[in-house]
Order: sequence, then structure tokens, then C-alpha cells
Amino acid sequence: MKASDFSAWLLAIAGLSSAQRAEALAALAKAEAAAPSEGAGGSSRTGGKRRDREDALGATGLERVERQGCPHCAGREIIGWGRSHGLLRFRCKSCGRTFNALTKTPMAHLRKKEKWRDHARAMIEGKSLSKTAELCGVHPTTAFRWRHRFLRSPAADKPRTLSGIVEADETFILESFKGRRSDLPRKARKRGGKARHPGLHQDNIAVLVARDRKGATFDAVLPQVDSASVASAFAGVVTPGNHLVSDGGRAIAAFARKAGIPFHAVAAPGKPAPEAPHRHINNVNAYHSRFKQWLNRFNGVATKYLPSYLGWRRWLEKGEDIITPQTALAAALG
Ligand SMILES: [Zn+2]
Repeated sequence: MKASDFSAWLLAIAGLSSAQRAEALAALAKAEAAAPSEGAGGSSRTGGKRRDREDALGATGLERVERQGCPHCAGREIIGWGRSHGLLRFRCKSCGRTFNALTKTPMAHLRKKEKWRDHARAMIEGKSLSKTAELCGVHPTTAFRWRHRFLRSPAADKPRTLSGIVEADETFILESFKGRRSDLPRKARKRGGKARHPGLHQDNIAVLVARDRKGATFDAVLPQVDSASVASAFAGVVTPGNHLVSDGGRAIAAFARKAGIPFHAVAAPGKPAPEAPHRHINNVNAYHSRFKQWLNRFNGVATKYLPSYLGWRRWLEKGEDIITPQTALAAALG
């Protein structure tokens, strides 16, 4: 497709209904799956397709520029300004500055962009850093840096509010070596990473997860399991307009009482009272176990990176039909 036609096509996206967007995403995912080698491996280097030479990010970069305008002043009048470092360049007519799709994103100034789709694919499949590095043909420290740059935007992308009934519960993750890159490939310290002491203990990091019945999920690493930490995590997210359901853990109950939020304690997890079958925390508990099972593959995640992994899990939960290397790149750009 000609670049001008493509721009027009992208602009029409704004007018789509949510059903049409879903249909379009499914069609794009199908097309992406049907052309797995495009832009990956050496194909772009040998210069197969003109589009790949135009912009290493494919449609993702242009889409972002169309949607966000100028990253410096949010101006909308933008013209093409050649290309550099494998990316299309643009110039804003309002402020006169130039930029590319990565300007002011966590991904700015990283090299080997042509490998990012492979990297995104490896992340979606949950490959280890050494396998990811091998697949992309980069050093493991590069794969490590990419992983955490990729995760910066998803980690910050949390719902600002939850609606209706909100299930909340804490879970505990075994603390990894503090401040070390312990998710880098290394000799196994203790395979499995099982918590030595389940529940509240100094080895364990508390993670608070809240989920509403539409599936919107909020999470936070708690510095302490007390009502003040819960209050600061939930500020503006869970409000007196919600009904909070939990298993009666003291911190969450105390937070709800102080904040004036209707609170319902379930006596036994998985067993709601017959007169109130909707009051349960099955969804949030299922989320906990999916998160922990998935996290196991990383053989210990350093505490400081836990929010990144929480964000990545939230993104993966959006559903298989919209999880593709291309949408992962778009999520990384924020
Ligand atoms: Zn501008």
C-alpha cells in the first residue's frame, strides 16, 4: 500500500466501533501469523521489502505518531522529514522540532530495532533471557536491557479506577537477591523458588491484587502489609462507590473501614454464602495462581523488577487474540 493511502487508512481507525476494532485486530493478528519471517532475522538486512527499510517498527511507529502527534508539544500538523537510524523522521509545524516514533518513549536510543519483533515474540512466549538473546542474536545483557525497557510502559499502565464489585487479596512472592540482576542467566541457586515460609514473612514480598467483574486488574507491591500501604496503593482506584470483597485479611478490612468502602469478608475462599453467591474472590485468587505459575519460569525475579513482571502479566491477560509481537511493541511505546 502507498504510504499516503496507508496514512488515510490509519486515520480511519479512530472512527471504528469497538466491535470493528476487535475484528480488525483479529484480521491483523492473522496476517501477522501468516507472515512470521517478515522483518525478522536477516530478511530486512538483505532488503527484501521496501516497507521494512522505511521504518524498523513497521506500522506501529506511524500509528503512534498519528495517534499522539508531536511528542514535544502535542501539535497535530506533522510532515515527513526523511529517515534516520532505520526510522521515519517527522517534523512538527508548530514547534519546528523533529522526532521519530521512539522520541520520549522508554525505547528511545536503543539499537538493533529490526530484532525487536523477535524479542517481543520471545517475551510473549516467556522465553528465558539466554534463549531470547540467542534468538535475537544479541548478548544476554542486551536482552536484559531490552526486556526492562519493553516493560516500562506496560508496568505503568494500570486502571485508574475499578467498577462495581472489587475482589482484593494479597499474595506473597519469594524475595530474590536484592538489587542484583538475579533474572540474568546464572548458576541455579535454588531451583523452583518456592517460598520457604508461606504467607507473611520477611523473605516474602506482598503483592496486592484487585480485580473487578469486568476483568480490569490493578496490582501493587506493598512495602508493608498494613492499612496505610493498602490505602496508598488503592487511592482513587477503590472508592466508596465500590463494594470490596476480600477474605478478611486485616489490612484490607481496616483500609475499607477507614475509607468508608462497603466491605464484605468471605469466610472461606471459593465458598461464597448461599444468600450472596456473587461475593467471592475466586477471580482474584485464580489471577494470583496464574501469575505465580507464569513467574516460576524466570527462576527468581529481583524485587525491584517485580512491578515490571506484574505489568507484563496484566498485558498478557488481555487475551490471546490481541497478543502479538506488533501489539507488544505498541504497548512498549506506551
Ligand atoms: Zn511540536
